[in-house]
Amino acid sequence: MPGIGARSAQRIALHLLHAPEQQSRDLASSLIDVREGVGFCVRCGFYAEGDLCLICADARRRAGVLCVVEQPAEVLSLEKSGAFQGRYHVLGGVISPLDGIHPDSLAITPLIERIEPEGISEIVLALSAGIEGETTALYLAERLAERPLRITRLARGLPVGSNLEYTDEATLQRAFEGRVELG
Ligand code: ZN
Repeated sequence: MPGIGARSAQRIALHLLHAPEQQSRDLASSLIDVREGVGFCVRCGFYAEGDLCLICADARRRAGVLCVVEQPAEVLSLEKSGAFQGRYHVLGGVISPLDGIHPDSLAITPLIERIEPEGISEIVLALSAGIEGETTALYLAERLAERPLRITRLARGLPVGSNLEYTDEATLQRAFEGRVELG
């Protein structure tokens, strides 16, 4: 399991061996519930228990602004920081021809299809700062250029190639406040 080294794994296994058997049964059934009950939001690609995630279904979210991220886990980090009140769109990665990831492999068309029905006026790109994130940001700016949209990106200050998931809350807040126009 990611994040659990050999020593932690051993500690967990020994704990379960000495604890009442019911604890192991409860843990196993929680794991199965998560695996079977959680999927992806049909609109934004974030984790969801039904068709729509809690964020898309929440009428109190600020309408008209979408934050584009690479992976669903990044939405969790941004939500924890409280830096963004709009809704999200998960691309599923960044353009990376060497890894066989082309624009068609990402949720770019679904993003474009959300703009009109949801009355989107600003798209904030929260992509990683490496060369692939740059390429993807430029590609999106070009695809969206014809539309009356404000396209911004998070301020620099995130380390190159860093994953948003591991960025602290204060840094994320500053990155949102200092977001800059693209193109
Ligand atoms: Zn959603």
